[in-house]
Amino acid sequence: MVVAAIALPLGSGCRRPPKDKPNVLLISIDTLRADRLGAYGYRLDTSPAIDALAKRGVRFADTTVAWPKTWPSVAAMVTGKPPQTNGILLRPRRPLPAENVTLAEALHGNGYATGAVVANVNLAKSFGFDQGFEHYVESWAEEAVKQTGSASFRNSPGLVKRFTNGERVTDQALTALDALGNGKDKPFFLWLHYIDPHGPYVPPPAFARFFVGAHESRPVPLEDLPPYQLQIDPATGQVSNDIGFYEGQYDREIRSLDDQIGRLLKALDERGLTRDTLIVFTADHGESLWENDYYLEHGDVPYQTTAAVPLIFALDGRFRGGRVVEHPVGVIDLYATILALTKTSPPPGIASTSLLPVLEGEDDATPRNVFMISGKYEPWQLSIREGPWKLVLLRAPQDRDWLHAPERALYDLSRDPHEQHDVSAENAELAASLEKKLLGWFSGTPRFAGGAATDLKQLDGRTQEMLRGLGYLE
Ligand SMILES: [Zn+2]
Repeated sequence: MVVAAIALPLGSGCRRPPKDKPNVLLISIDTLRADRLGAYGYRLDTSPAIDALAKRGVRFADTTVAWPKTWPSVAAMVTGKPPQTNGILLRPRRPLPAENVTLAEALHGNGYATGAVVANVNLAKSFGFDQGFEHYVESWAEEAVKQTGSASFRNSPGLVKRFTNGERVTDQALTALDALGNGKDKPFFLWLHYIDPHGPYVPPPAFARFFVGAHESRPVPLEDLPPYQLQIDPATGQVSNDIGFYEGQYDREIRSLDDQIGRLLKALDERGLTRDTLIVFTADHGESLWENDYYLEHGDVPYQTTAAVPLIFALDGRFRGGRVVEHPVGVIDLYATILALTKTSPPPGIASTSLLPVLEGEDDATPRNVFMISGKYEPWQLSIREGPWKLVLLRAPQDRDWLHAPERALYDLSRDPHEQHDVSAENAELAASLEKKLLGWFSGTPRFAGGAATDLKQLDGRTQEMLRGLGYLE
């Protein structure tokens, strides 16, 4: 039924309900901790535009990634399958197997025009993340050739990020919207993966004025910091070993990114697309700044610093703005949710739960489990969430050594958000039941078999250098 006139003031420009098959704008940010955003309670004003988006949409307060490292995290997000099933664990490196039906493939099959702009080299076409996209822009590519010619370049801290940043990704996104027809003839799916808060933290100079003096000086031994993160502090002219300096830089990166998110959403509005565009905002993982003596990195620990990311769904006129969902969900769930919202049939074998009923206001009292794999040693670290509880298994002895933690620990995040107190002895039955569910999930889910590994040394020199500059080939 077409509604010709609506008496209820739903907001500016709201004269009809959103289209049946809305456009989809998926924004994933590399290395963005949820707790560094105003909407998630941060004390500094790092994110006015993202906070405004959260007010327009539904914010999930407790969202966990599938693996706190770019390629396994994003692979789970775009396939709706956990790492052991979709074939993308930390190792061996291989392109995303074609057996998976990516979000782009599913939406393209349902009549969507598909495009992406990605700014992390780990999501390059050579790693197979372009499956299902008609337009796939490697954001760094053009500028890298311009600045360095065809020869391989010698990397130095920050150089990789000189080839792309939030401003460039946003420019490329607006060009991509035109290429996709701005949703006129058919709806579009546009995925943007921004790199900005990923180390090395090099915010644009205009942001140097933000958060001055907001972080106290906290020196650590220089050798504890990852080499790719090291920077000269302009205040001292020395290579900085001060976590306070790096925290400020990280916050400034987020603040500059936020300007670009604001610019992107404004452009969407100016093109008259806001009403018919589902906006999904999330991140591939967080960052451990100093916690657990794990500095300026992600991937190697199972803790909330790198596991917890923002997740916001906004579709004006469809969801009640400003709602907050407190129970744990996974980034992996956005796959089924986007399919449900676009009336796209889900392919078989996915392990992603649609959040649509929750988005539409249903109270979801069913206790849900959210699983995560992490670590650099095998057997991998495993963790499970259920309500406020988090059970962590450090299965590799090396992990128990360097993290000074037991093989199995249970945390009550409602009382102990920084995971300092193992309460498994006091809650033995719960710990045993969660462990059983966790191991059952890990060993019981279908396992990907096959697919050739990628030999990173066979990649071209520039790709190798860029991976190294982001800390991936240390
Ligand atoms: Zn990442």
